[in-house]
Amino acid sequence: MYSTKHVIKSNYTQPSPDTISMIPNHEQQVITAVTKALQVFRMKGFTFKIMNRTQPVKKNTSYIEGHTSLQTKTITIDIYTARLRKPKKISAILAVLAHEVAHHQKPPYRQQHKGRLITRMHYPEFYKQVTKNIKALKKHRLTRHYYS
Ligand SMILES: [Zn+2]
Repeated sequence: MYSTKHVIKSNYTQPSPDTISMIPNHEQQVITAVTKALQVFRMKGFTFKIMNRTQPVKKNTSYIEGHTSLQTKTITIDIYTARLRKPKKISAILAVLAHEVAHHQKPPYRQQHKGRLITRMHYPEFYKQVTKNIKALKKHRLTRHYYS
């Protein structure tokens, strides 16, 4: 029912088409890191997908860094930088994962607001969970080396 999207704005950097290539080693490292992180979070039955963005994001455009489905337990993350399409740092990818996982730990809820029913997704308890998740990754023997 819910699919959460993350729109992030940042400054322009010149895209260079020669960096738009899949780097198998990076993908393998990410899959290993995500698998370990999901173990740290004790999240079972999840499917991780690499976002298939074929074109670099254009100047001054918002873009999605990751999304998740609460029903299918699928988490999709862009593992390359949006504009240059360079391998993203593992710690940055794990930060997106910590956020996406938090949507399952602190699910969206419906609330009456000014006579209308609204969906609360990014509420204070949700963000506390994200912080907790990142702390857990930094501390755990399986994942702490990604932060050194
Ligand atoms: Zn979110």
